[in-house]
Amino acid sequence: MKLSTLVFLLLIYCPGTNAIGFAEGTLRMDYLHTGGNRTSDSIKFVELIDEAQKWSGLLESSDKLLRGDYQFTITDQSTRQVLFTNSFSSVYSDWAMSVEYKEKQRTFEESIRFPKPSDDFTVTLFKRDLSVKGQPFVKFWEKSFVLKKEKIRALRKLNIKSEMIIESGSPEKKVDVVIIAEGFTKADETNFFEQAKQVTRKLFSYSPYKEYQSHFNVRAIFPVSEQRGVAIPSKEYYPSTALSVYSEALGMTRYALTLQNNQLRDIAANVPYDTIIILTNSNKYSAAGIYGAYTIVPAFEQRSGFLMAHEFGHHFAGLADEYFHSTPGYEKSKAIIEPYQPNITIGKTRKTIKWRDLIGDKTPIPTPWQEQDDSNLQNYSSTVGAFEGAFYSKYNYFRPSESCLMRLNGKNIEFCTVCKEAIIQMIKAYSK
Ligand SMILES: [Zn+2]
Repeated sequence: MKLSTLVFLLLIYCPGTNAIGFAEGTLRMDYLHTGGNRTSDSIKFVELIDEAQKWSGLLESSDKLLRGDYQFTITDQSTRQVLFTNSFSSVYSDWAMSVEYKEKQRTFEESIRFPKPSDDFTVTLFKRDLSVKGQPFVKFWEKSFVLKKEKIRALRKLNIKSEMIIESGSPEKKVDVVIIAEGFTKADETNFFEQAKQVTRKLFSYSPYKEYQSHFNVRAIFPVSEQRGVAIPSKEYYPSTALSVYSEALGMTRYALTLQNNQLRDIAANVPYDTIIILTNSNKYSAAGIYGAYTIVPAFEQRSGFLMAHEFGHHFAGLADEYFHSTPGYEKSKAIIEPYQPNITIGKTRKTIKWRDLIGDKTPIPTPWQEQDDSNLQNYSSTVGAFEGAFYSKYNYFRPSESCLMRLNGKNIEFCTVCKEAIIQMIKAYSK
């Protein structure tokens, strides 16, 4: 084999950075996402940022799991070859389910991150049409970049203390989790790192994280907040904190958000990261998990272990809620369409259920369970089936198991088999 052919083949098979079309490094594109009040989404480009880190995200250059409401592609301008794709959701996605979305227009900061292309490239954004069968991605924005002419901001490296909690290998080959302090003052530094270790231990006490711990690096970083806690609007408490996290978000008492995406990303990128956990100095049940964006967990809430597992399930693996009580801030679409998430279905027959391969031949579909019929002799509580009630709705949506951490908290509750599989798929997309 000629040397040039060998080099060419090596380049093709090397995933992520240094593959054909990529320089070494990670780029971030910040933009503003506006919509609501029955208007369509609009995007305003803000800037490109060079994160001065090797690419540590997806191993392959195309996301095959597609677990978000949005997707982006990076295309080489001269060859028209798609170099990279990924799927994601955002605070905007959650807001689009809220009552307010119908009444108001709002603008949110958002980012996408990708391996740095070596030549001029085009970014294209797609949004799922959630009201159509198959929930297809529809193109809605595009911008081309001429690398030599583009102003690329260098990341502002901050003087932030960090600690390695789990170290398993180089960032390019592992899932890199960063735990960021929020509402911890200078005096709380030791306490924060101790809490970060505790929630990490709790997360890795659950399967499949337990078995796959060697696929993860976990780092904690400590941006100092001037004041303690997180904002509580109903009490008019607005402390000055690193990330301006506030509780009671989108009209839900148990929901927390930060809208300071760019600040969050600038802080996170001080270490290699793929996923973000914001650990708040709070004991209130106020949390969040958004696929591709972040997880928020209160360090001092009794159920912080459950919240880590559940919210990180949304953020890292794109899992849907399996509980069926309605959520006051959310407006469900009237149309019953198969959702793209891996752990919920509208399939009422075996062949229409996406996890059918995991269902035993003798398991009835729909699968009976206690709340519907407590005289039921056969108990399917540890069986994979299709249990009616999921995704904020008592009817029409089915979940794979009677109980799962994506539905409830409790002693001995774990992720159901389908969620475990979905988490493992995501771990393997980022690590080996
Ligand atoms: Zn589940």
